[in-house]
Amino acid sequence: MADRVTLVGGPSKIAARGDVWIVELPRFGPEGTHYHTYGLLTPYFKGLTEGRLLGTRCANARCPISRGAGELWLPPRADCPDCHQPMVWDEVKPPAGYIYAYTYVERGGTGLEIECPYYQIDVKIAGVGTIVKSYLVDRQPIKIGDKVRARFRTGAEATHTALDLYFELVR
Ligand SMILES: [Zn+2]
Repeated sequence: MADRVTLVGGPSKIAARGDVWIVELPRFGPEGTHYHTYGLLTPYFKGLTEGRLLGTRCANARCPISRGAGELWLPPRADCPDCHQPMVWDEVKPPAGYIYAYTYVERGGTGLEIECPYYQIDVKIAGVGTIVKSYLVDRQPIKIGDKVRARFRTGAEATHTALDLYFELVR
């Protein structure tokens, strides 16, 4: 077995309406296709295809929780759950952290576009208030606390889905 997960799955069709992406999902043929808008979260998915990890933070000085200096949310939210005001976009730099928890996936569900087996990982990134769920491209044994950095499927490799973000071990 290869020591790295082969990236599978091709690009989803994208239609743009102004700044918003509408993606065709799932990709199982005409009888299974529906159209899903990324809406106000479109910048997140665009960012992945450009090799940038974008989150949102509350910058509302009147927010009872953030007081205008909120941590980043990742995945992003369009509006703050505490003050209900629009959040602002910010790039995660560096897009790296450590494995907070993990699951070894030997068999995936229908339609999964990650080659099994693989590690599904929860990543803690400094400055990000949430735990990021993603997958690890490496198959070697891992442990909680191992350092990882984000990788991206960009250009012709981009799927236009959450799978455009993955992580690799930092050795
Ligand atoms: Zn807020």
